[in-house]
Amino acid sequence: MNDYLILAGIIVTLDPDWHVYSPGGIHIRDGQIVRVADIEAFEGEDLPKLDLSDCLVMPGLVNAHTHTPMVLFRGLAEGYSLLTLDGWYNAIRLWELYLEPEMIPPAVAVSCAEMIRTGTTCFADQYFYMDQVVPVVKESGLRAALAFGIVELGDTDASARALAEAEAFLQGLQGHSRLKGWVGPHAFFADNLPETIQTELDLADRFETGLHIHLSTHGEEDNFCQEHFGRSAVQQMKVMGILERRLLAAHCLTIPPEDLPTLAESPFTAVIVPSSFTRAGASTPPLRAMFDAGVKIALGTDNVANNNSYDLFQDMRLLGKIASFLEHKPEAIPARQLVEMATLGGARALGLEDQIGSLEPGKRADLITLDLNEIGWAPLGGQDVYTALVYSVSGMHVRDVMVDGRWLLREGQFEKLDYRAACAELDAALEHLRDRRSEGEE
Ligand SMILES: [Zn+2]
Repeated sequence: MNDYLILAGIIVTLDPDWHVYSPGGIHIRDGQIVRVADIEAFEGEDLPKLDLSDCLVMPGLVNAHTHTPMVLFRGLAEGYSLLTLDGWYNAIRLWELYLEPEMIPPAVAVSCAEMIRTGTTCFADQYFYMDQVVPVVKESGLRAALAFGIVELGDTDASARALAEAEAFLQGLQGHSRLKGWVGPHAFFADNLPETIQTELDLADRFETGLHIHLSTHGEEDNFCQEHFGRSAVQQMKVMGILERRLLAAHCLTIPPEDLPTLAESPFTAVIVPSSFTRAGASTPPLRAMFDAGVKIALGTDNVANNNSYDLFQDMRLLGKIASFLEHKPEAIPARQLVEMATLGGARALGLEDQIGSLEPGKRADLITLDLNEIGWAPLGGQDVYTALVYSVSGMHVRDVMVDGRWLLREGQFEKLDYRAACAELDAALEHLRDRRSEGEE
């Protein structure tokens, strides 16, 4: 069925006029959205019809910061803050030393399955072992921006090797319809020094892509840059030309307020991860100042060793509640804006806003359905639909997921991935990892 109509109970489009059709129809041809309108507009259309009248249809969510292999560490980092260098080193890095390439595919498969199940259709990943990550993401059917992770930590030989591999990786993904290669310095200044950063910028320029980094988790870059250059990290990034490139910067907890206007006028997106900074007991990002300055914002879940869930609906809700709690007023961030952050906000951050992020003619059919027969919606006539999406339901209400016109989930069942098999392989990989570490430390 390449040319057909979806007839839905409610359609939330996220188009520039915030159209909600209830009930509505979507005409899809060869994976592309042709038309979205009230159901009456399609009366008499002689096309095959898919009846989703008991569902809400909306754009798929965009998770703008993940590390899919790290689901292997879920449960191993409790009690540590991964937002400090110390906590990350002790809880994660000491395990990473014992990783083997064959442990990666089941972890990526479980991560992709959890994202699909909870309504994410596109994600921005950053990690090592990208040669192991790519085949699984291809198989999953998801759309992704995959950043080749580079941690230097003073080892210039290792970073030179990683940069050469990153180049081959970017080359290999050229022209892929759903996957785009990115450059993934773990963190500027804190563990990637200026010479390495320059090479990373050159790579991003050559392959017309962006850089996916961590920034300002506890002030480490600012301390380094004040000491070495006599200015803040953001101002040093401006001097080095870094801010002229597309940047995806996870966390942004401790950016000095005076630097926010500089970020607002750059192709820079702050990826806020509410579950991560709240669970870690870290600083709260300067949300109101970021909004007022016009900094672009997207939402992410980060690794699920410190979250511990890929359900982006939870992070929309948590961010909305934190903002209201901090500002002592309801709707400090309107629910509609939270939904936009998790869809179009992520699409813009990845440079994909012409293709995904809303349901509009000409865009690819990346959409999800939520079951209106499930709990939380009633009374349907009473709740604002965006408020219901943020505060009343969750990712487990998602019933179907489509990317590029292909179903990845139908009525709660995976169409492409074998989730149970991946979980069994992940359990075996974790056991093997524990054995390797205890042998290594004997
Ligand atoms: Zn991260």
